[in-house]
Amino acid sequence: MKKLLFAAFLLFSGCAYDVSPSWGKLNDQDKAVSLVWNQQYGVPAKVKPPLIGWVENKDLSCNKNQWGHYDGFRLPDGLCVWGVTYEPGGIIEIAHPMPEWDLVGFSYHKTLPHELYHAWLFWKTGDPDPGHTNPGFEARYGHPPGGAVDQATTALANEGL
Ligand SMILES: [Zn+2]
Repeated sequence: MKKLLFAAFLLFSGCAYDVSPSWGKLNDQDKAVSLVWNQQYGVPAKVKPPLIGWVENKDLSCNKNQWGHYDGFRLPDGLCVWGVTYEPGGIIEIAHPMPEWDLVGFSYHKTLPHELYHAWLFWKTGDPDPGHTNPGFEARYGHPPGGAVDQATTALANEGL
């Protein structure tokens, strides 16, 4: 059974933060981002999606999974997350456990639609909604299932992403 995902928005404060993401693109990353950012959320193609950094290896230091490895990372305030979106919406960081660490396997649909939705809200309204009050967020925030993030998650999963 898949665990609940954790994600949060962090106001960039300039405080010490010792996570060093990898900025290289993963396989099919452009395809996954475009499917969510442009096709699902309807952002015009001329608007660049956020940069995505992949948090790996030693920087994954919390949320021990059922195989004894860590698959989350800590924000400066101590919160353990699988993804974070920084103001001004230009940077997203997402946990990318090594394949041998996470026997379920990494998939874009686990975290990408949630973080891109924060970025999309920021782009559209100027408010990334760190409290997840927008009804497009998932049921775990008290919203009806089938919202924008759920739809994007399904669309990615249907493409095997
Ligand atoms: Zn969030």
